Amino acid sequence: MKQEKEKKQIYLDYSATTPTDPRVIEAMTDFMKNYPGNPSSIHSFGRDARNKIEDARETIRDFIGADEASEIIFTSGGTESDSMAILGVLEKSKIAKPHVITTSIEHKAVLSIVQKLEKEGFIEASYLKVDRDGKISIEDLQKEIKHNTVLVSVMYANNEIGTVQPIREIGKYIEKINKSREKAAFPRVYFHTDAVQAFSYLKINVKYLHVDLMSVSAHKFCGPKGVGFIYIKEGVYLENVFIGGGQEFGKRAGTENTQSIIGMAEAVKILKKEQEKDTKKVKELRDKLIQGALKIEGVKLTGHPKDRIPSLASFVFANIEGESILISLDLLGIAVSTGSACTSGTLTPSHVLTACGYTPVESQGNIRFSLGKYTTKEEINKVLEVLPGIVGRLREMSPLE
Ligand code: PLP
Repeated sequence: MKQEKEKKQIYLDYSATTPTDPRVIEAMTDFMKNYPGNPSSIHSFGRDARNKIEDARETIRDFIGADEASEIIFTSGGTESDSMAILGVLEKSKIAKPHVITTSIEHKAVLSIVQKLEKEGFIEASYLKVDRDGKISIEDLQKEIKHNTVLVSVMYANNEIGTVQPIREIGKYIEKINKSREKAAFPRVYFHTDAVQAFSYLKINVKYLHVDLMSVSAHKFCGPKGVGFIYIKEGVYLENVFIGGGQEFGKRAGTENTQSIIGMAEAVKILKKEQEKDTKKVKELRDKLIQGALKIEGVKLTGHPKDRIPSLASFVFANIEGESILISLDLLGIAVSTGSACTSGTLTPSHVLTACGYTPVESQGNIRFSLGKYTTKEEINKVLEVLPGIVGRLREMSPLE
């Protein structure tokens, strides 16, 4: 952050990744200097590292309200946790062609894997539609449940538009379904949520949410990149994706990314202490940004007006390309992102905005601002000061109507 301030840069892409908290870096550095052992080794170096890893696991267990520390399995992040949940449940299933229900707005870490397995003929899949605000309906989910349904995977909060899904209600509904299936010969339905974007801001207690599986990634809450975890409820058995040594209770082979696990646990401790204050601040700044941006003509806020994570504001700007806005802001040192990617002249509209009913032309004008605990009022003021001018200038030059 110091480096950013010196360069007067403004970072508003926290949904892509967050700056690492200096206290996390300190904890990781201390661990790397003082705990060189492999946590699987029997000697004292190994045991010391193991103790630290188990302390980290306990910190996370406590934060998410899991029963047992062994329900937390360390992974390389959100993508791996999503793969583990989906492949693990499906491969374990005894059904010839299991059925998966997911949503049309999942992150590619979920969507691509389900689509691939469906295309290869291994599974049946249903993709729940969303309304204009990006919400699924529980009634739609109820209609999709079939005798061969083994997995429901619904993201907690969307990474492009910020809309929050009714995870607790879905979890309770699936529990009811499973009760009614106990006597029938139907398989149990497992419920997975990708909580990568929700973790910093929303209720994350796994009992409250009634989830079987939950994916989390540390770099979205000021922890290190390339580490995360999956919550696997006791009694949920997955086929292993990583096969090898017996690490992580035999559920994920490979020497643990020890220093990153220590960093992630430190980020969780900080979150526990500071979450309330940071959430309030981020939400106020996000609302200020929304109010200011909506004063510009031809701007619409995407996502749900109320059920959204506090950190994210994504807009569509009429008659201009989001990428042009992104580049103009970048030239002023302001980092944002767009859901629509332009590669060699072809603009691919965001699958999320398309699912919400935005036309490809509307989607082209998408910009996502995502804030975090280091965002300041001055930074938001600066954005609001320069944005109308950028939009006006680009509209004058734009061939779009
Ligand atoms: N799921 C969601 C909702 C995300 O936003 C992301 C990252 O942007 C991921 C999964 C992937 O997480 P990771 O980068 O840790 O693999």
